[in-house]
Amino acid sequence: MEVKKKDIRALTKEQLREFFVKQGDKAFRGNQVYEWLWQKSAYSFEDMTNISLETRQMLEANFVINHIKVDQMQRSADGTIKNAVRLHDDLIVESVLIPTATRTTACVSSQVGCSLDCRFCATSRLKRMRNLNPDEIYDQVVAIDNESRLYHNRSLSNIVFMGMGEPLMNYNNVLKAIDKITSPEGLGMSPKRIVVSTSGVPKMIKKMADDKVKFKLAVSLHSAIDEIRTSIMPFNATFPLNDLREALQYWYAATKNRITYEYVVWDAINDKRKDAEALVEFCKFAPSKVNLIEYNPIDDGEFQQASSKAIDMYVSVLEANNITVTVRRSRGKDIDAACGQLANKS
Ligand code: SAH
Repeated sequence: MEVKKKDIRALTKEQLREFFVKQGDKAFRGNQVYEWLWQKSAYSFEDMTNISLETRQMLEANFVINHIKVDQMQRSADGTIKNAVRLHDDLIVESVLIPTATRTTACVSSQVGCSLDCRFCATSRLKRMRNLNPDEIYDQVVAIDNESRLYHNRSLSNIVFMGMGEPLMNYNNVLKAIDKITSPEGLGMSPKRIVVSTSGVPKMIKKMADDKVKFKLAVSLHSAIDEIRTSIMPFNATFPLNDLREALQYWYAATKNRITYEYVVWDAINDKRKDAEALVEFCKFAPSKVNLIEYNPIDDGEFQQASSKAIDMYVSVLEANNITVTVRRSRGKDIDAACGQLANKS
């Protein structure tokens, strides 16, 4: 009977060190292999040139190295790149490289599909198949870092967890991936350059605060009125705004990190003055800023971006109340790489 080999990248550094000690080798060998796996992103044991042939063969007999494979790469006219990423079990997720004049941002996925039901988001139409493992999240970042060097002559500067899935529904693996991304033994990126975006799971926001995470938090708010939010994001019935607000206050008290609210203004849904005023009230609970994001149509015409007059109204109401607001344009729309358009179409 063939023994199913274990994914070596599921082991922590400590577990790798222990493995080598059990084999009668030095714990230090674990450090060397760990460095190959993470810092040097080795795809095979053969690449590990400072490890003896015998040890490499022993590793080969016991483990596999599961790497993602960029199956298809699409480049937009504006420089945005979308990767369709094949996982070891042939499921596909997408990640996006977004270049600006000074930065390269990676937008990465945390789940295959999504368990939430935001009615304006293409990903919500895919069933949630499974959570991504820490290495599958990490690999998306490495792939984009390589593409950034190749096509934009600079390394990756920022990461947003705004691809497919709800990161806080795969909290442990997202945290492990961020640990690797920020560790000097991984990519050594500053956590201040990482944003985790959530549709707002109160219990998990509190857990993040308790865990004293150092990355930034964005919340996809879209309405500060329960009835409206529930109509566009039905899970709001389970996690109403009061619970979300309380969790965000807890987050701010513990971390002193201000919160970014992502907000799309839609025609006839949340484009009235009372909607903007409700947002102002919500913003008063904890220091925050608002990103008004452009709507990216997902085909059925039910949701329409509000008029620029409505957007201007939001900006003036927010600014009159001293709330920082930016209006964000989408990138990569011609290749379905913009927010909410990730649905494995190609
Ligand atoms: N589940 C997480 C992260 C993925 S969505 C979250 O909800 O935050 C990333 C952002 O894209 C969210 O702010 C989401 O509300 C927004 N979004 C989803 N569909 C969109 C669409 N069609 N047009 C514009 N933004 C969209």
